Amino acid sequence: MLKVEHIGIAVASLRDSVPLFEKLLNSPCYKTETVESEQVQTAFFRQGETKIELLEATGPDSAIARFLEKKGAGMHHIAFEVSNIEEEMQRLKAAGFTLLQDKPKPGADNKLICFLHPKDTGGVLVELCQEQA
Ligand code: ZN
Repeated sequence: MLKVEHIGIAVASLRDSVPLFEKLLNSPCYKTETVESEQVQTAFFRQGETKIELLEATGPDSAIARFLEKKGAGMHHIAFEVSNIEEEMQRLKAAGFTLLQDKPKPGADNKLICFLHPKDTGGVLVELCQEQA
């Protein structure tokens, strides 16, 4: 894996959380994007090589809505950039990790993504992401 690409944080409201993180990080939100398939709206901040991704649910069936219900707002996932997501998925599957997708799926920020089940990763939801050409 190449680097920590971003850290995902579940929030109840982007309208409240974007100004909070702009103040905290002292840098502006540079992009917001809705991912219809995931029922989330995202907002991105750049911190050096790593981004912060705020996630707000846009519907009750969103994984973020369920997360907020169960655990409340806070750290949701850590995303590692990989150069070849299919290869990395094969490697991790062979190593005994549970993948939440059979195939990479489109995520925010022009990425192909796949999640690993947190039961195999010390309770941390891990995302693999690869920049789409
Ligand atoms: Zn993410």
